Amino acid sequence: MAALAHTPLDRAALRRLRWLVALTFVAVALASSLVFYRGEQSRLALERSRALAVAESELRQLEDHLNLALSSTRALAAMVRQNGGYFRDFPQVAGEMMPLYPGVSSLQLAPKGVVTYVFPLKGNEKAVGHDLLRDPKRNGEAFLARDSHRLTLAGPFNLIQGGFGAVARQPIYFSAPGKGEYFWGFASALIRFPDVFGDTFDDLLPAGYHYQLWRINPEDGERQVIAANTEQPLLSSVDTEFLVPNGAWHLSLAPVAGWQPPSVLLKLALAVLLISSVFALAVYRLLRQPIRLRALVAERTRELQAQADSLRKLSQAVEQSPNSIVITNLDGNIEYVNRFFLAITGYQREDVIGQNPRILSSGRTPPGTYTAMWQALPQGKTWQGEFYNKRKDGSEYVELAIVAPLRDDDGRISHYIAVKEDVTAQKQAQEDLYRLAYFDSLTGLPNRAKAIAELNASCHASAAGPALNALLLLDIDRFKLINDALDHASGDRLLLLFGARVQLVLRREDLLARLSGDEFAILVRGLDADFDSAAGHVAELSKAIHDAVNKPFKVDGDDVGITVSIGATLYPSGPADAPSSVLRRADTAINRSKLNGGNCTVFFDEAMGAQAEEQYKIERELRLALPAGELRLYLQPQWRADGVIMGAEALVRWQHPQRGLVPPATFIPLAEESDLIVDLGIWVLGEACRLLACPEYALTPIRVSVNVSPRHFRQSSFVPWLTGLLAASGADPKRLTLEFTEGLFIADVDEVVGKMNALAAMGIHFSVDDFGTGYSSLSYLKQLPIHELKIDKSFVQDAPSDSDDAALVETIMSVAKHMKLRVVAEGVETEAQAIFLNSRGTVIHQGYLYGRPEPAEDLLRRINDTLQPHPAASLAHHPAGQWQI
Ligand code: C2E
Ligand code: CA
Ligand code: CA
Repeated sequence: MAALAHTPLDRAALRRLRWLVALTFVAVALASSLVFYRGEQSRLALERSRALAVAESELRQLEDHLNLALSSTRALAAMVRQNGGYFRDFPQVAGEMMPLYPGVSSLQLAPKGVVTYVFPLKGNEKAVGHDLLRDPKRNGEAFLARDSHRLTLAGPFNLIQGGFGAVARQPIYFSAPGKGEYFWGFASALIRFPDVFGDTFDDLLPAGYHYQLWRINPEDGERQVIAANTEQPLLSSVDTEFLVPNGAWHLSLAPVAGWQPPSVLLKLALAVLLISSVFALAVYRLLRQPIRLRALVAERTRELQAQADSLRKLSQAVEQSPNSIVITNLDGNIEYVNRFFLAITGYQREDVIGQNPRILSSGRTPPGTYTAMWQALPQGKTWQGEFYNKRKDGSEYVELAIVAPLRDDDGRISHYIAVKEDVTAQKQAQEDLYRLAYFDSLTGLPNRAKAIAELNASCHASAAGPALNALLLLDIDRFKLINDALDHASGDRLLLLFGARVQLVLRREDLLARLSGDEFAILVRGLDADFDSAAGHVAELSKAIHDAVNKPFKVDGDDVGITVSIGATLYPSGPADAPSSVLRRADTAINRSKLNGGNCTVFFDEAMGAQAEEQYKIERELRLALPAGELRLYLQPQWRADGVIMGAEALVRWQHPQRGLVPPATFIPLAEESDLIVDLGIWVLGEACRLLACPEYALTPIRVSVNVSPRHFRQSSFVPWLTGLLAASGADPKRLTLEFTEGLFIADVDEVVGKMNALAAMGIHFSVDDFGTGYSSLSYLKQLPIHELKIDKSFVQDAPSDSDDAALVETIMSVAKHMKLRVVAEGVETEAQAIFLNSRGTVIHQGYLYGRPEPAEDLLRRINDTLQPHPAASLAHHPAGQWQI
């Protein structure tokens, strides 16, 4: 009902109700007034009849008193007749009679109408002698009495002797013979009012009545009041009439308070008001209730409508939600699924209603997921997690689900609702992203980031336990050359096969990762805590890797043989061992392995660490060395077999303030790892051009060969820069040879060819350095403007003793001959080597046998001063000392 207070009521109905209430009030007022009027009427009638009865009973008393008083005259008359007229003892008789007739104040005898005898005389003296028949004021009654022979009553009137009264006159007749009947006189009694009435009217006032006893005065026709208990005129009085001897008297009664006293009227009016009000109120109450109820019903209907509306919207929202929605009962049985659920799962509604959602389970959701969910839900908590579900057709999808308990109005959990979003695509994207971030796209192996993350993790884990782990870095030897020789896709396949083969020798818990290009890493975790035992395991493992890898790989139908360099370290080396330190140690070890010529495993030891540190220091110092002018240009001459000096190779040295003369092997590989090599190349070429252009050198016009790093040559500005340098220095391009290793031809061959052609057009020559160490594909030679091959010193040195190397040297020389290329043999140290070379064809010699690299100016001075060829040149069985371009 509280709600009703705020319920707006129907205004029109309320207005009607007000009218109706007013009407009811008026109608009831009228009706009740009528009823009261009727009641009042009958009450009045009753009252009047009661008053009448009272009046009549009063009259009877009055009559009794009056008759008694009047009868005094008859008694007196009887005595007069008995005594034959006047009797002497009248005063005595009258005195005895008086007490018998209360109300009679005096008795008189008036013979012949003249008052003669009066008792008591005292006070009535004036009446004596009064001739009644002659008193014009009073003789009417006197005559009436005399003539009618009947007792008459005169008055009332004011008595002469004072007071108010009436006189009863009894005519007395005598009859005498002859005379007949004659009039004797009157026997009169003076009746005083109100003495004569005695106590007759005394009870009226207490009974609540006013009365008037009155008559119509025959003399003036006026109403003459005989007795009354009020001066006021009586209103609507009840009147009774009774006959007295000379006429009629009336007794009128009226209630003191009136017939309808104001208090009664007031009470009636109040009663009418009350009744009308009660009725009106009842009507108001009675009729307002339905209005209020109607309003309430209307309001409730509106509320229900609104509820139904929002319920409809809600259910539409649920039904049409772009998320899958499932409602189950507490047993987990499905009671509702929305459209999206059906669309996602491929089920029909009837397939799933009553079923447990586990029909969706693909079995891939971790069991812990369900455990966690069933822990949370009965406690009224909302749970969120991922389900790996399957559709009706068996295909899998991943859902992000929010499952919450539904409570009824009493707050008890009645259902569970699951809102699920298909996150398969996001999940896939996440996984892809993860794969991209942490896995190598070519081999599918973990990548550098993943390897480092795992290394980090195992470092932290190791801190907690005594076990040792190992990090192995693997690098395929000369892979760049192999890769160039194969096409790119085949190189990729080789890497793939390599990874797979290494994987085969690993334990499940070991992690193989591809760090970059041909660099791989292996994390061997959970080794024995004993150092020797762990190192033993790593040694065995690395041997197994070498064995596995050394077997030829089938790539595009060709057998490709590779070897691998491995650097290994155990970790943690101490409580504070950091991943970066572990990596650095393994790196140092693999560098050492490479320096050792590859195809071997090197375990890190502390000495290596010191060396790595040293290298770092060198690199830093080298950066400063260039601007500080610490580099020196050395030249190593190249001799033709007939003793003619053909040219010299420019080789850089570093005149270190503390270390002394540092050989390039110490710093060139370091410089090649950054653009430092470019700065260095700029310096060397600048020096070489200065040399070519200087007047002393002009005297001995030999070629100068300069080693150019691929990194430098690949600079887009290389050609214009060199052109500019040549022009600025005045050096003759036709006497400049640029040496490259086969590494230059790995990639962007077209661009390289373009640049080489541009330079070749200026007269610059190109030489392939360390020829024979790369992958033996000679096909590229045809495309390039090559003028010279330099046989690597390893072949040259072993050729006299090793038939394989000898065969290789011979092959190179025949290829060169066929392609009309110059051949320079490097590292000729012994006469045997020189003889071997010369016996196989035309070769230019460069080596310690003829001369070590020496400061450029030293060589120049020597050549210019002595014009003497190196004594060893005589071994070439040719006249020495000639210079030739
Ligand atoms: P490389 O181009 O193969 O140079 C030939 C190397 O063989 C030189 O070592 C030379 O001193 C050495 N050599 C010459 N004759 C003999 C011999 O009879 N027996 C032996 N055992 N060695 C001989 P070097 O001067 O130490 O240079 C080493 C490498 O440093 C060079 O190898 C070259 O690759 C690089 N290098 C030197 N100077 C430069 C340069 O200015 N620029 C670039 N990019 N690389 C340079
Ligand atoms: Ca060289
Ligand atoms: Ca070389």
